[in-house]
Amino acid sequence: MSPLPVQTGLLINGEWLQTAEKLPVMDPATFTVIAEIGNASVSDGLDAVAAAHDAFQTWSVTPARQRAEVLRKAFEIMSAEVETCARLISLENGKATRDALGEAAYAAEFFRWFSEEASRIEGDFRYAPARDKTIITDHRPIGVAYMITPWNFPAAMATRKLAPALAAGCTAVLKPASETPLTALWIAEVLLRAGAPAGVVNVITTTHTGDVSTAILGDPRIATLSFTGSTFVGKMLLKQTADRVLPSSMELGGNAPFLVLEGADVDAAVSGAMIAKMRNGGAACTAANRFYVHESVASDFSTKLESAFAGLQIGPGIDAANDLGAMVSVKERDKILELLTQAEGEGLTIAAASEAPKLGAFIAPYVVRDVLHGSTLTRNEVFGPVAPIVSFADEDEGIRMANDTEYGLISYVFAKDPGTGVKVARRMESGMVAVNRGLASDPAAPFGGMKESGLGREGGFAGIHEFLETQYFAVDL
Ligand code: NAP
Repeated sequence: MSPLPVQTGLLINGEWLQTAEKLPVMDPATFTVIAEIGNASVSDGLDAVAAAHDAFQTWSVTPARQRAEVLRKAFEIMSAEVETCARLISLENGKATRDALGEAAYAAEFFRWFSEEASRIEGDFRYAPARDKTIITDHRPIGVAYMITPWNFPAAMATRKLAPALAAGCTAVLKPASETPLTALWIAEVLLRAGAPAGVVNVITTTHTGDVSTAILGDPRIATLSFTGSTFVGKMLLKQTADRVLPSSMELGGNAPFLVLEGADVDAAVSGAMIAKMRNGGAACTAANRFYVHESVASDFSTKLESAFAGLQIGPGIDAANDLGAMVSVKERDKILELLTQAEGEGLTIAAASEAPKLGAFIAPYVVRDVLHGSTLTRNEVFGPVAPIVSFADEDEGIRMANDTEYGLISYVFAKDPGTGVKVARRMESGMVAVNRGLASDPAAPFGGMKESGLGREGGFAGIHEFLETQYFAVDL
């Protein structure tokens, strides 16, 4: 154990395995090393696959009710220890305590939702139209799932995969991001405490990401890949999985538009923008990335958003008084600063709404006015507290610009009434649309993107099907 309430080994077959080589985990608010954990080799990765494959033989035929009870228990433990989870998230990721608490509670809800779904996996029984046979459709667990998660939601991205997989009867090898592995280790231990048998959940943490993943994906005992991360890495993995025709679910990058239509309530839009933009300090795939605001309210909206940004207290996320924590790393912070420099080169005025602490990977929030659609800040997923504002005169033009991206994860629409909002929502090319609100994610709803934002859905009724195989029996009854 480290001084933190988390195991430091790899979790393979129910045992915590120490490795000679270590992976240091850093607190980005102070640049101190907070833990040294296992650093898996290719052979550790394959041991985890073997353990998950063995455990699958019994877990897949364990009654759904029993699997549900493990997940329900995990929900209860996580809910009771939500502060411990939030503290780990905040320490390794940098995010503000309020965001970390929100994430921990959201993450726990996936265990609850999928504990409820475990015993409701449906099949169907029909006569064939020619009545020469019956059609029986069954769903069975697909097998061992390899899961790769990003650093921005270290708890929720893990439970959003683990919960449906275990509910379906699959076993898992989870590889969290190397910048934020502690929360995943803690969650795996919660599952063990909840009664998950050895080998059902395995966690490998590694800096040899490419080699370990390539070996795992090439192993015939792996039946599916569930990936959340950038579109760049997602495309690379899809090429690898193509070699084995491996089913893959991909939750990838976003470039979410935030539309404020003529007649919308500006104060409500600003409140929604604060959530859609600032949750996680802007480091969310669902973060509003580009603001298209009707010219009649653009100036009012920008002024009010600037003032809300200026009111945010920036500092270590672990201190609950702070609204905006550190970025996960200097590398991520500098990527944002680089985009701002490019935007300045395009003639925009770049002025921070407040000041960020000098030590630590902090960045101040920015509202950037008079941005042109097609410029740097509208083309790139900024992944930080930057709000570029483009104004438009004509609603069709606003919608066209909002859809003018290769991404399609989520859109936000603020309209004068929900009816108008939904009418516009139907025209948005994204898997999710939040209408007159700044947050859409819910474990009971299908989360996922269109276009290059991904393949498949997590959560809702669809999420469990990523871990089920459909099988049809033709029977003459
Ligand atoms: P990333 O660089 O793609 O990394 C994500 C995960 O992929 C990490 O675990 C990383 O491991 C792993 N990885 C990197 N290279 C790999 C390789 N060659 N083979 C196998 N795995 C590899 O993304 P990120 O920077 O962590 O996360 C930010 C991105 O995730 C953003 O684009 C965001 O929009 C997206 N995201 C999407 C969703 C969604 O639900 N759609 C949710 C959250 C985030 P290492 O850490 O060891 O490199």
